[in-house]
Amino acid sequence: MIYTKFKKNLTSLPVLNQTKNTLHRYFPILFTPSKEYNYWANFISDSEYWNNDQLKNYQWNKTKELLKFSYESIPYYQRIFKEIGAKPEDILTEKDFNLFPILTKEIVRENVDDLLPIGIDRNKLIKYNSGGSTGIPLPIYKTRIDDIIEDAFMNNQWKRVGYKNKDSRVILRGEVIEENKLWKYQPNYNAWIFSSYHLSDDYIKLLINKLNKIKPLFLHVYPSSLWVLANLIKKNKLKLDFKPKAILCGSEKLFDHQRELFYEIFGCRSYSWLGLAEQTILAGECEHNKELHIFPQHSYVELIDNDGKVIKNNGITGHIVGTTLHRNTFPFIRYISGDMAQYSPGNCNCGRNYQRFKQVEGRVQNMIVSQDSRIIPLTALVFGQHLLAFNKIEKMQLFQCEKGIVEVRLIKGLRFTDEDVDILRNQLSKATNNKVEFNFSFHENLERTATGKHKFLIQELPIEFYNFDQNGH
Ligand SMILES: [Zn+2]
Repeated sequence: MIYTKFKKNLTSLPVLNQTKNTLHRYFPILFTPSKEYNYWANFISDSEYWNNDQLKNYQWNKTKELLKFSYESIPYYQRIFKEIGAKPEDILTEKDFNLFPILTKEIVRENVDDLLPIGIDRNKLIKYNSGGSTGIPLPIYKTRIDDIIEDAFMNNQWKRVGYKNKDSRVILRGEVIEENKLWKYQPNYNAWIFSSYHLSDDYIKLLINKLNKIKPLFLHVYPSSLWVLANLIKKNKLKLDFKPKAILCGSEKLFDHQRELFYEIFGCRSYSWLGLAEQTILAGECEHNKELHIFPQHSYVELIDNDGKVIKNNGITGHIVGTTLHRNTFPFIRYISGDMAQYSPGNCNCGRNYQRFKQVEGRVQNMIVSQDSRIIPLTALVFGQHLLAFNKIEKMQLFQCEKGIVEVRLIKGLRFTDEDVDILRNQLSKATNNKVEFNFSFHENLERTATGKHKFLIQELPIEFYNFDQNGH
């Protein structure tokens, strides 16, 4: 019975898209670590080299606790258990669990209220909007502790490339700085935020002079933004007077060609990870290789094929399905994020007994082009912004066939008003320094790819407009 429901869900999978959901937070490290933070940081370090049995036991016990809690307190899961005719105690093994109904973004969006525990005070929760990368907004509720736990895991990952709390960072993650400034300093975090919208020949010398003065130990970037900066450095034959310890690349897939260029320009390693606002997976590279090492203490992660079977074979690509182990406010069980990966068996030299996935090459990254021929990565334009109107939109798609002009195609949600158009237009314009005109159109349906995936951007500009090396911008 479980399986029938599962198959039903799988065939109606919404959007399977290789782009990343973003973890929209700049500062994974707390300035003054709290008691809770220290507890989690210690736990992660203590369990880092546990053997397989220890990790499996911990993970499975947490999973069973979550199933029990969800059955007792989460209306959506009470319904699911009823539908499949089971109780938490009937899920005896991981094989049973691997048949539990899949949770999709659509299901989350339709059941936001029912995914919260009965009687919870919503005012005490933090609401995030995620899922922008697939064009479907997704609300996520968290507590302060949920964020602290995530921070502790992130910090543990960054330690692998030498990061220590308050090490100097330059952040280039799609930020527009107020008053059209090129950078701003965040003393509490010892971090400089650089404007992603001054990445052009006009400003590159100023930006590099500043970088050379700061000499940051780490660059914390969207790969697509740093790629534009690195190309400008190369093209203008500028010299860097420092070598960072590492480049921290989050929220987007890091492509091999980007990794190579970053090494050529900055002379250090790029370190990437996969983290989702949904908290259903956190996985990063290790000291030795670039495969994703999945924290088993953080979430229960499976890789499944199109028939829903768990993949355990080398080199097979599948869909990432994850279960939150610590978030009782808004628990996700077997959530399919749209991210894909390849199974990688065996042990890694680093000695961690973590399951590993190889990252899958995605398609060419999406860029839009401004009136003054600047290339604006989609990540910076849309996913780096907290677009408030996302709450009220069913789907969004961008279309560009002329430099500096982008059509925003929307399927409105029930609460969407004319005022929201203005708000959205202002936010998008601001994010492009008013160098892109946004025109809105409203639709019942939006164009999909041949395989049925939602297309977030339809880019029809001639290739030379967004080939960085050819047009020289
Ligand atoms: Zn390793």
